[in-house]
Amino acid sequence: YIDKAISEIKRIESLISSWDIKSQTSKINRAAGIEAVEVDKELFKLIERALKISKLTEGAFDISYASMDKIWKFDGSMTTMPSEDSIKKSVEKVGYKNIILDASKHTVFLKQKGMKIGFGAIGKGYAADKAKALLMSEGVDAGIINASGDLNTWGTQPDGKDWMVAIVNPLNKKKVFSWMPVKNSAVVTSGNYEKYIKFGDKLYTHIIDPRTGYPAYGILSVTIFTATAELADALATSVFVMGAETGLDFINQLKGVECVIVDKDNKIITSNNIELKSTN
Ligand code: ADP
Ligand code: MG
Repeated sequence: YIDKAISEIKRIESLISSWDIKSQTSKINRAAGIEAVEVDKELFKLIERALKISKLTEGAFDISYASMDKIWKFDGSMTTMPSEDSIKKSVEKVGYKNIILDASKHTVFLKQKGMKIGFGAIGKGYAADKAKALLMSEGVDAGIINASGDLNTWGTQPDGKDWMVAIVNPLNKKKVFSWMPVKNSAVVTSGNYEKYIKFGDKLYTHIIDPRTGYPAYGILSVTIFTATAELADALATSVFVMGAETGLDFINQLKGVECVIVDKDNKIITSNNIELKSTN
């Protein structure tokens, strides 16, 4: 069964990866500004759902982030901010509104030359969901699909207890803040605690706001709880970009979605329907 799950994930990767030059995504990217590309229904639908999240988040989430110039370095080598001009220029070709879908022909057209799409913030979640669906259809009673931090569960542990997930302290990954049960649903954490830069006393994370070109500010990690890992994956990235206050407000307006945010001061912020039980 594990082999089956892995081949399903490999199948998805070769369809959607922007790194694989043979993938349909690469074909779309090569045809940017030139022509519309017909793709499998599966990829078409994924792009359609990604665009819905872009609208919902007013562009905080945007699969066309992929054309951004990489002007920020998060390896400690940067000593000054990039110029305002170069920051503006870096996001010139980003814009989900220039991704044109034709549902009758299943075609995707990137309007501007040099535009690119990528599924870095939604693909892993999608793959986890598909692997779960496949194993469930094969009659597997219970499991956890963990796509490096993007996970989806079904059933219970062998002893009948719920699957549990730990929320860790971003500044010390060995320390657990809290445990939460996950019942037939997904949990995704976005956050990179090593990759950030500091200018003055401001700490910027490695996720960039595709609307401005500036790194997201103020959050160390975001964990999203919802039915699918795909949505959780996309929303985790979105909340990062939106910032703690706006992000929390946004999640509180969505039914069936909860979040735990750890902000730059290591403060834990939770959405309305989550109660964290401290472990110490
Ligand atoms: P990770 O995969 O590291 O857990 P995320 O799910 O937050 O973290 O995805 C980050 C990746 O998403 C980036 O490496 C990049 O490929 C892509 N990405 C970055 N910013 C955005 C954005 N604003 N909208 C959509 N995708 C993004
Ligand atoms: Mg994500």
